[in-house]
Amino acid sequence: MTYGALRASVLKGETSFEQAVQSMLTQIASHNPHLNALLEVYEEEALEAARQYDIQVSQKKSLPPLAGLVYVHKDNIALAGHRLSAASRILEGYVSPFSATAIERLQVAGAICIGRANCDEFAMGSSNENSAYGAVRHPFLLGYVPGGSSGGSAAAAAAGFCHVALGSDTGGSIRQPAAFCGLYGLKPTYGRISRYGLIAYASSFDQIGPISASLPDLIAVYEVMAGLDPRDATSSARPVEPYQPAPCPRRWAVLAPEGLHPEVAHRWEDLLLRLRQAGFTIEKIDFPYWEYLVPTYYILTTAEASSNLARYDGVRYGYRSRQANNLYQLYALSRSQGFGQEVKRRILLGTFVLSAGYYDAYYTRAQKVRRILYEYTEKLLSQYAILLMPTSATPPFRLGEKTTDPIQMYLSDLLTVYANLTGHPALQVPLPGEGMPVGVQLVGKMFAENTLFCSADAMVRLYS
Ligand code: GLN
Repeated sequence: MTYGALRASVLKGETSFEQAVQSMLTQIASHNPHLNALLEVYEEEALEAARQYDIQVSQKKSLPPLAGLVYVHKDNIALAGHRLSAASRILEGYVSPFSATAIERLQVAGAICIGRANCDEFAMGSSNENSAYGAVRHPFLLGYVPGGSSGGSAAAAAAGFCHVALGSDTGGSIRQPAAFCGLYGLKPTYGRISRYGLIAYASSFDQIGPISASLPDLIAVYEVMAGLDPRDATSSARPVEPYQPAPCPRRWAVLAPEGLHPEVAHRWEDLLLRLRQAGFTIEKIDFPYWEYLVPTYYILTTAEASSNLARYDGVRYGYRSRQANNLYQLYALSRSQGFGQEVKRRILLGTFVLSAGYYDAYYTRAQKVRRILYEYTEKLLSQYAILLMPTSATPPFRLGEKTTDPIQMYLSDLLTVYANLTGHPALQVPLPGEGMPVGVQLVGKMFAENTLFCSADAMVRLYS
């Protein structure tokens, strides 16, 4: 049941928030052991919060806007007084003394946090196989990955553990797992939602966002989290306009690379046909920068990661090696033992591209490509309100299929990293239909999330 439906039903006296939480806890108890989507469940707290809102209902007190909406937080978004590990050994035992702004706003709005979702270590990955706490399984395809790095969040939302799951998206980590699990997922405009309390991976790319089976629930959570936060200097002062369903713009640009998987290609072509039949102007763009996206993304994000992850030194937080005899060993052993293989690979790559002899050849060049991409995209978006793209070139893949080949894993991010390189908002929309889950994304003008919402709505209606 969506949150909207639950709230209406509670207000009519047909059910209670406590019952809703209880039924989600039952789902969690029966499915989480094999999915490994949640690392921790806040059973008592969630039930207690639900009871409080039920009391308010019985006393006919007015309810806050999201009272009783159940969510999970990805293990890189801080919730005060709770563990936070970014699915890494290096943060083993760390308890956050404060909450992320996004979470603080959800709590004030009455939402209830039911658990902490597994993810790829430090949000680095595309399959959720890089967690120090074990891989997450696909919620309904046996033997498949749920996508990553917010795979635990997506699996939790798809398995009915919550109404909305919070993820973070640096290069697709909300949209790709949402696509793999048949859900909506929003990467907001860079700066739309405060990053305060989000464990940094690549700060100029990272955004918190919602994943949900219900578009209205996703929008409700997004609106509460969005807006200026003095604690994040990159958060935008632009007011957040409440979403009102409206007719959407009908002139869209279409961007798709060669070589889509046949399963994706088939559903994609079918979608374009439906749009054309419905009278949309759909123009295929010959996008000139495909080959630059993944290299630019991995140069810049590993550079930022190598700097952001320097703070995990074995002194300040979490894991500390017991074998160290001096300060150098304390750093070296704590980091060697605390970080997983993929995180180490990226710290090394990032340190390399920032090193004196190579800085201009890699880092500076990649920054220039990023600027060119942004300008190109702004120009495109002055002619078209929406850029339509597949979210992933393939449907979900099998567990273990890409773990031995990091390059293949990186290439699977081709379609999602684009919007993080330019900062534009992007909404993953699941395509209705039989077969493997396939999703497409709508990319819009800066801060035009509402245009994405009405366009998604119009697109999905073409299937009914
Ligand atoms: N798969 C991409 C990466 O590994 C994206 C991760 C993300 O968005 N956090 O970097």
